[in-house]
Amino acid sequence: MTHKYIICRAAALVIVIAGLGFGCAGESEPATTETVEVEGRGDDTAKWWEKLPRAQWANYERVADELEWFEVYRIFPDIYAIYEPGQFEEVISFLIVGEQRALLFDTGLGIAKLRPVIATLTNLDVMVLNSHGHYDHIGGNYEFSDIGGVDVAYARERANGAGNEKVVEYVTGDWLWKKTPDGFDPQSYEIKPYAVTTYFEDGDIIDLGGRRLEILLTPGHSPDSICLLDREGRRLFTGDTFYLAPLYAHLEGSNVADYKASIDRLVALEPEIDHLLTAHNVPRAAPAYLSRVKDAFEAINSKSAAYVETDGAFEYQFDGFSIIVPPSK
Ligand SMILES: [Zn+2]
Repeated sequence: MTHKYIICRAAALVIVIAGLGFGCAGESEPATTETVEVEGRGDDTAKWWEKLPRAQWANYERVADELEWFEVYRIFPDIYAIYEPGQFEEVISFLIVGEQRALLFDTGLGIAKLRPVIATLTNLDVMVLNSHGHYDHIGGNYEFSDIGGVDVAYARERANGAGNEKVVEYVTGDWLWKKTPDGFDPQSYEIKPYAVTTYFEDGDIIDLGGRRLEILLTPGHSPDSICLLDREGRRLFTGDTFYLAPLYAHLEGSNVADYKASIDRLVALEPEIDHLLTAHNVPRAAPAYLSRVKDAFEAINSKSAAYVETDGAFEYQFDGFSIIVPPSK
């Protein structure tokens, strides 16, 4: 989930990122240095969306390209990224296909029907699991019957859905630029309620057959944020805990101390993983960013980092990402 004020801020940065790992599906991490333009969502150009999809997507095979709303890419042979560039969040959901079943990590905005898209990608039973309960990650949950979740009060409340008055803003004005599916009406857009059928705890492992995913509770961005660790595949699905854009530690329900502790936990895994798979803008980032985020939180805490104040929150800028904290920090 984002705050729209980012649209009023020009923050395009050209930075050098070592070993970011752009490559074709299944390739190992190249030890190259890439010059990458990293931007927040919706920088204040007249038509910010004309730059989409961002350059990294060109490295992946696009599949199901007849779809009007979603863009689907094969990131690895068994992992698809389902990207929604038509709305400001540029949210990314991931389908992870095992030998016996599949897991859908987030269901996007709920603007277009997602289940028929998933059905074109796998015949296996699909369980949904959400990185957290913000509206842009749970919008399609209602289409599925097998939904995993964490037993956190915030997540339970989110499963009740959100009425049009709470979410209409996100599908009007320049939040939304792409043609929406026939029948979609912003004035009736809502997050439909859903029922969690299986609760998981920290450390639980979901076995898809040939692909095991470990659930890590990583509160901070929200109280119910999780990451998914694929130890054999050396990948970490980070949800909104990390991506290459402004990170939100200032939202209602965010907690800076929890966020920092969660990052500290993830940093310990850094030697064991080759790829971060992230939930906004672009699908992959180098694991070294985890250490950089740890350093960033320490710089914020020691007040040794520069910041800009925007709409009452403080945004600290680092290479490739920023962190927005509430004014008390
Ligand atoms: Zn979020």
